[in-house]
This record gives sequence, structure tokens and C-alpha cells, in this order.
Amino acid sequence: MTLDDLLLAADQALDETVELLADLIRVPSVNAGPDGPGHETDVCQVLERKLAREGISARVLESAPDRGNLIATLTGGSGPKLLLMGHTDVVPVDDADQWRYPPFSGTVAEAAIHGRGAADCKGLIAANVMAAIVLRRLGLPLAGSLTVAAGADEETGGRYGFRWLADNHPDLLAADYGLNEGGGSCFLLGDQVGYVINTGEKGRLEATVSVEGRGGHAAAPWAADNPLSPLAVVIERLLAYQPEMDLSHPVFDAAREVLLQDPVGLLQADYASMDQGLKGLTSALRGASAMTVTPTMARAGTKSNAIPPAAQVVSDVRTLPGQTQAYVERVFSDTLAGLPARATVQTTAEPSASPYPTPFSALVEEATAAATGKSDLLWLPGITSGFTDSRFVRPLGATIYGFAPQAPDPELGESRGVHGRDESLPIANLQTMLRTLLALAWKTIVAHP
Ligand SMILES: [Zn+2]
Repeated sequence: MTLDDLLLAADQALDETVELLADLIRVPSVNAGPDGPGHETDVCQVLERKLAREGISARVLESAPDRGNLIATLTGGSGPKLLLMGHTDVVPVDDADQWRYPPFSGTVAEAAIHGRGAADCKGLIAANVMAAIVLRRLGLPLAGSLTVAAGADEETGGRYGFRWLADNHPDLLAADYGLNEGGGSCFLLGDQVGYVINTGEKGRLEATVSVEGRGGHAAAPWAADNPLSPLAVVIERLLAYQPEMDLSHPVFDAAREVLLQDPVGLLQADYASMDQGLKGLTSALRGASAMTVTPTMARAGTKSNAIPPAAQVVSDVRTLPGQTQAYVERVFSDTLAGLPARATVQTTAEPSASPYPTPFSALVEEATAAATGKSDLLWLPGITSGFTDSRFVRPLGATIYGFAPQAPDPELGESRGVHGRDESLPIANLQTMLRTLLALAWKTIVAHP
């Protein structure tokens, strides 16, 4: 058996992977809010039956009724443990009658699989599960082990999914390294193809600043103390806040090498008038360079003829790995110094990151080169401003990258409609994922005599 044979086996399993994805889309595991329901157990059962037919036993662990999580492991020797992650819940569909294909039909047309969850994240789950199945069918001896984990409840924070698994079954997630969603988009620089590999994610906090006044009748403003006046100053200060810059993320070194251009210039350039082709990269660099504080909601008053007694502004805060809630609280108290204002800060997601480059990232890059047949790929390590389940698994000790590679052609591989209308995944992306996962297994856990 050679790596080429394995990649051929991946291609032969492509139709079956497409079918599996369509079956997964047909289970409407919609996660509508903080308490679901997600019906993820139904998705787990489709996967469990599929794996059982191959003699792979899986565990379905429910964190609450119908909130199932599936874990299946191919064990071999005591070598490296590879973890392939994905989530089984999807965001709701509000406009089903506007979709070109019904959102839970799993229609295969125009070289893509259509439906809610196709791109986020059931395509990756189908590829992960089929990678395990192909390895099992070929009977390749493993020097290490492969764990496929499909978690519930990613879309509303992971309380019933990977967070619960990490708290209650950390042994089942034990791994040296792994891959998850959240990266793998492809870009072109001249005629050279590059990929973004996500090494981490920013944290998210909500900061509420309250100012107190003294309410009264709007017709007699002199007798009251209008809190909108200090609130205006608070908002101005928050908008003018200049975060501490941190250029230590590896994306800056990569940008220097890949772009042969000083990334600091892109941090300061005027975004609106920038060349379209540079905007994606600029956003990635800016996101990785600093915390952001963005006022998003202002609240005061319930009647237009009454001066309210208090007012509030709420900000969305995205932190870099290493920036704690205490740090954010200090930033707010410094920024608001001298104002009659009080900030309360709440963490909704902790920042997390894996090191880069590592021996594992080198293997991911080699595997992608083999899978795509391109030996001169460019690599850009990124940090996402959103968050994924990786943040629950990294603290258990694994190096986890966000990398679900799309086809090595930005146009061909464009996934559409994530969290929106007409979600779809090009079949070419599914093929690239499956080939890459198997090539990675070949390089990490398959035993080579
Ligand atoms: Zn997702």
C-alpha cells in the first residue's frame, strides 16, 4: 500500500461520502437557542449505524435528552493519537420557501451538496467518519489511534457538546493533535495557491457600562440630571479606544514571507479604500493584532417625554489569547477614568490557541500538498474572531488546528450560505477534505513497516 493507493481509495469513497452528507442534512438538528432542542442524537444514530456496518463501534453520550455526542475510536499501537472533530447541530432556517433547494433535502446538484449544515459542519463530519471507515476497510495497521468526535450544541456555545464532553469524558477526547472546523479556506496569490490554517480563536466578552442620572420630566430638564450626557462621552471614549498592539502571532511572520510586504502597513492603511484583494488578509492581520472593543447596543428610557434615571451601553469585546477578563476590566476602568460610569464585564468564550509551527502543522501541510497534488502551497496561520469547540479540547493538552480544506481553487471551492440562505458545499471540497484527512492519517498514525 502506498499513499497514492490510499488517495485512490479516498476518491472511490467520494460518492458514498456525498450520500452520507445528504443523509446527515436530512436530519434537521436545528439548534434554536441556548436550550436547543438540537436533536443531535438523531444525527449520532445515522453515524452510529454507518460505523456499525463497518464493525466500528461508537459511543453516543447524551448530555441531556436528545443532545447526543458521538465518539468512535480506531485503536492501534501506543503511537500518536489523532482527533477529528466536528459538530452536528445547525443554525435555524427562517426563510425555507426562499431557498433554491429545500434546506433539509440534501439535494445533490451543480457539483455541490445543498442544505443547512452542508458547509457548517456536516460536510466535515461526513469526511471525518468516512476517513475512519476507509482506514478500517483497508485494514491498515495503526501505530497510533484515530478518534472521530461529533459534538452537539456548537452553535449556542457547546454546553451540551464538547464543553460537556471535556468536563465529563476528557479521557475519550485524549489526543496529541487534531483538526476541527474554522480554517482551510484557500486563496490565490498570483498563480500560487495558499491555505489558511487556524491556530486559535479570540475570546469574547460583553461589557456593559452603566451611567446613573436623576430622572425627571422632559419639559423641565434643568430639574433633572440627564444620563444621556455622560453616556455620550462614554461612547465617544470607547470608540476612540486604541488597543495595545501585539504582533507576536505567527501570521505576521507568514505575511512577511508570503506577501513580501510589511504587514504593519496594512494595519494602518485606510480599509475602505483598500484594494479588494487585500481586504481579507488585512482583516485577518487586524484581528490577530489587537483586542477589539465595539459598542453595539445603547439603552435608555422608555418614554419620549421622560428623562431616564440611568443609561447603558453594551460593547462586544474580542480578546487575544492571554488577555484575561481582569485585563478587560482594567482597560474599561482606565478608559472611563473620571466619568460617573461603572463597567461590568462577562466572559462568553475564553480565547485559546495552539502553537504554530509545530511538527504536526508540518504534517498537515505535507498531507494537504499530497492531497491537492500541489507541492508549493503557501500557508497563512490565522486566528479567528469567532469561536469553535477547539477551545474546550485544547486545555486537555492537544494541539488543535482549524483546518477543513476547501478545493485548491478559491472559485471552485467557495462554500455558500453559511448561517444564511442556500447553504451548499462543493463536492470538490468534500473530496479535498477526505483526501487530506487520509493523507494525514497516513503520515501520523498508520504503521509503516
Ligand atoms: Zn460550525
